[in-house]
Amino acid sequence: VAADAPEPLVVLDHSRLGEVLDTLATALDPHVDDDTVVVITLPGGLIFGSDLLRRLGASPVVDFVATAPYRPGSTASLVHRPATPLEGAKVLLLTDVIDTGLSLTYVLGELERAGPSEVRTCALFDKPHRRLVPVRIDHVGVAVEHDFVVGYGLDFGGWYRNLPVVAAADLERLSADPTCYRHWAYGNRG
Ligand code: 5GP
Ligand code: MG
Repeated sequence: VAADAPEPLVVLDHSRLGEVLDTLATALDPHVDDDTVVVITLPGGLIFGSDLLRRLGASPVVDFVATAPYRPGSTASLVHRPATPLEGAKVLLLTDVIDTGLSLTYVLGELERAGPSEVRTCALFDKPHRRLVPVRIDHVGVAVEHDFVVGYGLDFGGWYRNLPVVAAADLERLSADPTCYRHWAYGNRG
């Protein structure tokens, strides 16, 4: 059995995440009404989306979009599309993190094809130093300068998604052993 990796650095604790969400909700409120379709990217945006929705003053329609996990050489595809008709709709797309920008660019293109009147984009985390394609983000929760983070919706190999904090993780260690932070993350439950 390999030794545990050193503890990852907590980048945002739960109370800081709450502040970020409060600020985002205040900025988004003027743009969200009861007819707005809030589209959450799954699975990464699950926890962010549910925490943000509960801070909004309006009662928007809620729907989801999911992309197939990235595979080198394969083309992007949606494995889940919003069931709500988007033609003429005001859409707010909520996503977990913008890294290269490729996922958001692809999802935006697919949503635009449904003919919405407006698509506003909101990312909880932005890693501008990682960008490969320019992408329009209307609202950003917080910029992250680390290359790879886990927790609060963000996983590695299915681990760490349900952590209440965000931590900077060592991708090399994780690639060798996706469970390397499990004792730190889950204690005896891991
Ligand atoms: P992009 O297409 O912008 O490179 O990446 C967007 C998607 O990749 C995110 O929705 C997320 O699922 C995943 N991703 C990007 N950066 C990170 C990260 O730092 N940690 C984790 N766990 N996933 C990430
Ligand atoms: Mg991607």
